[in-house]
Amino acid sequence: MIQMDYVSTRGGVEAIKASEAIRLGIAGDGGLFTPQEIPQYSPQELQVLFRYNYHDLATQILSRFLSDYDSSDLQKMVRAAYFYPDKFDDPEVTPIRILSGKRYLLDLWHGPTCAFKDLALQLLPHLMTKASQLVNDHNEIVILVATSGDTGKAALEGFKNVPGTQIVVFFPEQGVSEIQRLQMVTQEGNNTHVVSVHGNFDDAQSGVKQIFGDQGLAEKLSQNNLAFSSANSINWGRLAPQIVYYFYGYSLLCRKGAIQTGDKVNIAVPTGNFGNILAAYIAKRMGLPVHKLICASNANNVLTDFIKSGCYDRNRKFYTTISPSMDILISSNLERLLYYFSEGESQWVKDWMNQLKVSGCYQVNGLTAEKIKQQFYGGYASEAQTIAQIRKVYQEDQAIIDPHTAVGIEVYDQYRKESGDLTPVLIASTASPFKFNSSVLGALGEQVTGVNEFLLLEKLEKKAGFKIPASLAELAGKAVRHREVCQKEEMGAVVEKILGIK
Ligand SMILES: *Cc1c(COP(=O)(O)O)cnc(C)c1O
Repeated sequence: MIQMDYVSTRGGVEAIKASEAIRLGIAGDGGLFTPQEIPQYSPQELQVLFRYNYHDLATQILSRFLSDYDSSDLQKMVRAAYFYPDKFDDPEVTPIRILSGKRYLLDLWHGPTCAFKDLALQLLPHLMTKASQLVNDHNEIVILVATSGDTGKAALEGFKNVPGTQIVVFFPEQGVSEIQRLQMVTQEGNNTHVVSVHGNFDDAQSGVKQIFGDQGLAEKLSQNNLAFSSANSINWGRLAPQIVYYFYGYSLLCRKGAIQTGDKVNIAVPTGNFGNILAAYIAKRMGLPVHKLICASNANNVLTDFIKSGCYDRNRKFYTTISPSMDILISSNLERLLYYFSEGESQWVKDWMNQLKVSGCYQVNGLTAEKIKQQFYGGYASEAQTIAQIRKVYQEDQAIIDPHTAVGIEVYDQYRKESGDLTPVLIASTASPFKFNSSVLGALGEQVTGVNEFLLLEKLEKKAGFKIPASLAELAGKAVRHREVCQKEEMGAVVEKILGIK
């Protein structure tokens, strides 16, 4: 097995091993760790991979990226993370639903918290604690998370009661769904801390980034045998597991006879931080036959403009939408894409990220913009279009989808209309509709205002024709365990208080 080392997108640190990159989360120069090379599969190797079950496929792909992990260890971790039926409630882990018009939903929400983040965050704690052993680090790990709703809960579930870890989650007080909020404030576990922040997701994310960059605080932690790490998708340990399901989804299409092995597919992804779609791009670079990557945004359409023009400009109105996990104006993982497209010119990436920090915008050069446009289509769905799409898919395909997935389908439909490209498409279905009861039922014309959340769950169950996920049904009987609220300026102090190092 070839050793895979990791470098920073900003070029300011020495290459390190995967375990070190996962343990650190973010590079010391502010950049994101990325593998020095992207591994490749030949068509012959792919033929073999496409016969694997999810666990074996994940072990194989991850072992290419995480070369300093023992592959039998990886296999154990993968089995524990994606165990059926305890962890995932579908034996295929990420099954497919068929819509009309060669559109296939890749359902990524069968894990314990009902969003795609589980695919990464059920595995990350295993990768992280193993990384501590591999790098011989005896500090207690403090996972800091800023969440737009789904990451926080998935990280809490992944890390709860994991020895040697504490987890602190900040969520924006406005802008998560009622189910998402309940999932977090009722979180159990002896090492879990949940705080709501006055502000939006970007405020929470900036606050967390600031805490990560605070040298004084890092020093204080280290004196107390503590060290920060990140469970946001800036951590490579979160991104790598997400590559797997694109290969698996493709293999399911082959098994169902929807495509022949080797045929191209398009992939459409409802996008916020650019993590999930970046994983699809990496799958393509590894040899998965993919034609176009469709990057779907909601009203916060900063990525749509970027893909069309090469100009990234976050100086715009922030919208709170019914697809809250995509209400993001700073898409952190785009930095990795820029690195890949600028031929390893980390100086460019550094300059762009610096401009983003200082003035909120940057313009990539024409060649880079052109290369990105060849691979990606960017589009967005308004709130009205998202709602109409939920209704349309229900009427035409008898499928119930959540608002994020609806954004993905809507933008894909726009793409197909514009381009006439009829290649079969895998559309990432990123959350269970049950997480967004009132938006989904409202879109279907049901009366929702003033109706109890748990009655809504039951109402939706009748329409969906599949059961309320057990973890959501249970919320009704759970006590609120986390009540802390803070201003965004207070986040650092709150962390110190929680850790008892103030
Ligand atoms: C996180 C999330 C997204 C956005 O994914 P990114 O990796 O941040 O682009 C989309 N939909 C849902 C339901 C999510 O939880």
